[in-house]
Amino acid sequence: MKRLIRGGTIVTVNAHADVLPETDLLIDGDRIAAIAPGLDTAGVDDVVEARGKAVIPGLIQTHIHLCQTLFRGQADDRELLDWLQQRILPLEAAHDEASVYHAALLGIGELLRSGTTAIIDMETVHHTEAAFQAMAESGIRAIAGKVMIDSGPGVPPALMEETGASLTESVRLMERWHGRENGRIRYAFCPRFAVTCSDAMLREVAELSRLYGVHVHTHASENQGEIAYVEADRGMRNVLYLEHVGLTHDRTVLAHCVHVDEAEIDALARSGTHVSHCPCSNLKLASGIAPVPQLLARGVNVSLGADGAASNNNLDGFMEMRMAALIQKPRHGPRAMPARMVLEMATMAGARAMGLAHETGSLEVGKQADLAVVDLGGLHTWPEADVVSRLVYGARGSDVVLTMVGGRVLMRDGLLLTMDQPAVQRGAQEAINRLLGRIGARA
Ligand SMILES: [Zn+2]
Repeated sequence: MKRLIRGGTIVTVNAHADVLPETDLLIDGDRIAAIAPGLDTAGVDDVVEARGKAVIPGLIQTHIHLCQTLFRGQADDRELLDWLQQRILPLEAAHDEASVYHAALLGIGELLRSGTTAIIDMETVHHTEAAFQAMAESGIRAIAGKVMIDSGPGVPPALMEETGASLTESVRLMERWHGRENGRIRYAFCPRFAVTCSDAMLREVAELSRLYGVHVHTHASENQGEIAYVEADRGMRNVLYLEHVGLTHDRTVLAHCVHVDEAEIDALARSGTHVSHCPCSNLKLASGIAPVPQLLARGVNVSLGADGAASNNNLDGFMEMRMAALIQKPRHGPRAMPARMVLEMATMAGARAMGLAHETGSLEVGKQADLAVVDLGGLHTWPEADVVSRLVYGARGSDVVLTMVGGRVLMRDGLLLTMDQPAVQRGAQEAINRLLGRIGARA
């Protein structure tokens, strides 16, 4: 199958940040075969007209909780530990296999509709198989894993695991899903955060990650209460503690890192540990503003994520880009976080975090055809100006008109091609009604 995207502005996000106006992009099978003006359409099965539109690498979000998509609007206006202990953990405990599946489909549908092609996802304790099923069916690229919880305050009994059982179930899921769909789906060990994970479990996770060469995805230093708890319980600053148990390395992606000191930034930088910055979620939960310019200045790889729909409340990667740029400017001046830097975070930095910098994250010949076509003809992105500025500061997820993963078109002209949107929305509504009934809250 050959497909040609004709005449768009190709925003490559390659090493030279090349932007190529009125250029064609040819896809052969799952890969980008050519990028040049005026390519021949002979032998091409499908031509996508992209004049006046931007063709960008698919957005990569490195911290998502698909299982929380049903909880959108159910946990507003609380700070992290209350949000987690009073609403999110009880709702996660109420999940069943069908509700995890519908939560994942709803989240993936929203992500694909708005140009996100790859995610790092943290599920809940149980029913993770159902989320993997949704990822496999939908066509999205994902690294995901079941969350691991074996200790800590405020955890509902249904989510509390015995350490060995949590590790065994994680390895079972890894063996079943890692590398599936021609490598499009991969596994990550997902200890929730140091507050709810024993020292023994975190050390085992570090060992298993090394043994199998798979990712570790966890939360770190999102909130003052969290780091005070870890400091009291483990006797160290959170990131230094994670280093102590062997979890700082280049296959680890830490969500947030809002409250990190110089020694912790050093630990992240020297180990190649990746940080996933979630500015909307950090603001909504009143967690704070991550020191992203300082992290970047030290060479830490920082990518973006929406976190979950329960703390954002949407999964639109364009919103995350805009917010990542804006929130640093009052503190660091208007030149901090320019649009090009933010677009790089939302694409190539995400690919690096996933260990897929050679495969995705930029539009280059030979890479996987993971991309989005964005219509910049709307009132809010008009008139014509620097295309990267229009994408980062003006565009919205709803401006995306085509989303492709590995050469496969998953959304075109607003229509999701691997799922039935009305059925997904209906299934999600029924599922959240059921979960709210289960925890004794009103729908
Ligand atoms: Zn999170």
